[in-house]
Amino acid sequence: MEVECLVIGAGPAGSMAAKELASKGIETIVIEKRQEIGAPKRCAEGVSKHSLEKLGIKVHELGIARTIKGAVLYSPSGKKVVMEGQGMEGYVLERKVFEKYLASEAIKEGARYMVKTQATDMVRENGRWRVSIKNLDGEDEIIANLVIGADGVESKVGRWAGLKTLNRLTDYHSGIQFEMAGVNADENYIHLFFGNEVAPLGYAWIFPKAFSANVGLGILEKGAKMRAYDYLKKFIEEHEDIFKNASPIEINSGGVPVAHFTGMAADGVMLVGDAAQLVNPIHGGGIVRAMHSSIMAAEVAEQALKEKNLSKERLMEYENMWNEEYEEKTNKLLKLRSFLEKLEDKDFELLADILEGEDIFQLTQAKLSFFLKKLIKRPSLLGLATKYLRD
Ligand SMILES: Cc1cc2nc3c(=O)[nH]c(=O)nc-3n(C[C@H](O)[C@H](O)[C@H](O)COP(=O)(O)OP(=O)(O)OC[C@H]3O[C@@H](n4cnc5c(N)ncnc54)[C@H](O)[C@@H]3O)c2cc1C
Repeated sequence: MEVECLVIGAGPAGSMAAKELASKGIETIVIEKRQEIGAPKRCAEGVSKHSLEKLGIKVHELGIARTIKGAVLYSPSGKKVVMEGQGMEGYVLERKVFEKYLASEAIKEGARYMVKTQATDMVRENGRWRVSIKNLDGEDEIIANLVIGADGVESKVGRWAGLKTLNRLTDYHSGIQFEMAGVNADENYIHLFFGNEVAPLGYAWIFPKAFSANVGLGILEKGAKMRAYDYLKKFIEEHEDIFKNASPIEINSGGVPVAHFTGMAADGVMLVGDAAQLVNPIHGGGIVRAMHSSIMAAEVAEQALKEKNLSKERLMEYENMWNEEYEEKTNKLLKLRSFLEKLEDKDFELLADILEGEDIFQLTQAKLSFFLKKLIKRPSLLGLATKYLRD
């Protein structure tokens, strides 16, 4: 089989790429190794309404499990900071519906999908990619001019194309989550819990859905004394008020790449979403960024195909576009991440005392200067300021 563009992976990145490419009249096939698009999820399913709107991304109402007003943050001792108001509204999605809807939109534009079809290898031949696939019909090949690697955090496409996509193990958060029914937490907010005994170098979360909630945590192995799973069980045991009548109805786990690499394109290949490790390095959210990267990749692909130039140099315009939009912000967020990793529980308590919801929103937007001013003004916070300034 031959095709202009092959998209490997039908997560949010793959289906958004397929929709954009097909809508530009580019012949597109998407292959997805799982038998069902969107399931099982490896995700807490939270997205910011504002970020989706900014990109003009429409979510089908059936793909929204709950609309959220904001977030409540908890210090290790239980002090709360509420973040709500402009820009804080969001959705907790039902990913298996959300992703199937995205795929249906791509199909409407003319993309073809093959599920339970796995890419097993790819080699470069006469300026095209020969991709080996395996599905219920056996083994086959697809020859493509352009391959979009949308195969998520365990991406092989980048490695097959000779890109250096591997990060240090210390740059991956281990995430574990129960979807639980019977959780007693305010359903208007997502809830985030901090502390080195709660989730070392990460946080625990409760994201309310229609009749259940995603309850999970992400940790960095280097700060952990036990498995992420053990921290999650401990978190649930320690919050009897929230979980005494709750039981799991699904278990999910997965890695979140919280660092970045350069080189998102090779000859005839572009990596999008988690395959290019584009998640927000502070909260690990990657759905919207994944879709945004695909919009950019499709824009560059359209021009490059017209010019019949799919060289790495040409396709690297995609990375340049990405960097223009995100590089500065990501670098600030990486600095903030390294600061947060130095915090002890007493520092979280201090931050809960001095920061308002609005301040934390500014922090998540990588607007850091106000934060430094606030830290430096109060002598009792000098220790924290030093931690921030020291790399
Ligand atoms: C525990 C946890 C909680 C999270 N919570 C959030 C959250 O609340 N909000 C948020 O925005 N982000 C969250 N994330 C991150 C988010 O899930 C990802 O950033 C997002 O899914 C990236 O989309 P993607 O399309 O790039 O990759 P994926 O969604 O991983 O999709 C990749 C697809 O490629 C397929 N695939 C892989 N290899 C092959 C192959 N060889 N052949 C064919 N198909 C293949 C996979 O089956 C998969 O369907 C969370 C992640 C974890 C682990």
